[in-house]
Amino acid sequence: MHELSLATEIYRTCRATIDARGPGRLDSARVAIGELAAVEPELLVYAWEAVVSGGRDAAARLEVEWHPARQTCATCGEVMERAPGNWLRICPTCGGPVQVAGGDELDVIDLSYTPDEEETAK
Ligand SMILES: [Zn+2]
Repeated sequence: MHELSLATEIYRTCRATIDARGPGRLDSARVAIGELAAVEPELLVYAWEAVVSGGRDAAARLEVEWHPARQTCATCGEVMERAPGNWLRICPTCGGPVQVAGGDELDVIDLSYTPDEEETAK
C-alpha cells in the first residue's frame, strides 16, 4: 500500500524535525497533496493513524491540504478544471495544447508539537 509507506515517511520527517529541537510530542502535521501525486487523502489519513498508533504520538493528527492541478490553454488562455479521469491535454475550446501546472505536491508544510519541558511544567 503506497499510502502506508508515505505515512511512515511523513511521520519520520516530523519525528526528525522534533528530535532536532529537543524532546517533544507531535500534535499535528499538515501535508500538501497534489491531485497528480496519486495519493488518496482518506487512505493517507487512515495509514497515518496506523503508523502513530501505540506510540508516543498516537494522538497526532494528520491534516491534508488538497492541491488540484491547474490547466491552462497556451493558445486561448482558457483555464479549466480537469474533468475527473480525463488526462487528455487538449483544449476543448480551440484544440490547442494544454499546460498543466501544480498538482504534483507531496510536502510536509507544517507541524506542531509540545516540548516535553512544557508538559512537565503543567
Ligand atoms: Zn484553447
